[in-house]
Amino acid sequence: MNELLKNLTEAVGVSGAEKKVRLLIRDLIIDHVDEWRVDTMGNLIALKKGTGASDLRVMVDAHMDEVGLMITSIETNGTLKFEGVGGFDNRALLGKMVQIGPKKLAGVIGARPIHLLKANQRNNVVKIDAMRIDIGAKNKDAASGKVKLGDCAAFVTNYEEIGPTAIGKAFDDRAGCAALIELLRAEPYPFDLYAAFTVQEEVGLRGAGAAAHGIKPDAAFILECTPAYDLPNENDVSPNVALGKGPSIYVMDRGTIQDPLLVSLITKTAVSHNIPFQIRQPGGGGTNTAAIQRTHGGVPAATIAVPGRYAHTPAMMINLDDYANVVKLAGAVLRSLTTDTIKRHA
Ligand SMILES: [Zn+2]
Repeated sequence: MNELLKNLTEAVGVSGAEKKVRLLIRDLIIDHVDEWRVDTMGNLIALKKGTGASDLRVMVDAHMDEVGLMITSIETNGTLKFEGVGGFDNRALLGKMVQIGPKKLAGVIGARPIHLLKANQRNNVVKIDAMRIDIGAKNKDAASGKVKLGDCAAFVTNYEEIGPTAIGKAFDDRAGCAALIELLRAEPYPFDLYAAFTVQEEVGLRGAGAAAHGIKPDAAFILECTPAYDLPNENDVSPNVALGKGPSIYVMDRGTIQDPLLVSLITKTAVSHNIPFQIRQPGGGGTNTAAIQRTHGGVPAATIAVPGRYAHTPAMMINLDDYANVVKLAGAVLRSLTTDTIKRHA
């Protein structure tokens, strides 16, 4: 059992309420870094001093937050109205268990049972406004004693491994956090490495920009978990990245064209180290790269990701070899990076 992935994915850190995850990560890295601080937004930034061989300042980012729900009102019947924090497919919500607030109060996202639905209702997607979280409270007073408005709710999913496959919640982006922790536990790099465990990615890449402004990196790498959609599907002949085929390399997404010099370093390093990799399809989605590359007159930045099925639902799935290869590839890329790599001659 990968205890790092288990502990990180079972911890709760909905965007804006990442403290539990931050404390967990701080304790996991504290013996392997030279300095650490928490900035005003809540990003955890740690410095692992280099050997002195290179003057570069290199940032590696992974976001701590996960999608979740926020309680917005308590109804007279004791149920809780909520809003999504981050993007959801509403169909993934009904009937799921959640844990609410710091005390992890149990609740269920209520749905009218199928027995009581009319034929036309069965074909409709229930909107988030019409859903309620039920905590078994008999009225508003009873519920108010247990929950505060603004409390966050997260999914409840135990981490499991089945052969090379891991199932859990929030691999997006605790898989990236775990990989970054492993990079910090390795031998020093030629340059000073700034690890940024960032906040509020799922609501608009908000923490990473602030972190990059504070760090002023010469280059940045973003470790992510990117949506895989590789199951057999009659009508879809162009699957995105697949589980088990290696780290996903971004070239372009909704918010970026990744730095071509770094993308080239990543793919060349994968080939020279015999690490499988796949190029993620361009198009939708985005990562903290978009926020980081636009700071300080531009920062060369690129993303390496673990492919993950069922992103932004209560249960995701990754391949543990892909995860291990992301750690291996990111480590090898860092050790191959030089000032020349990012120098533009014309
Ligand atoms: Zn993510």
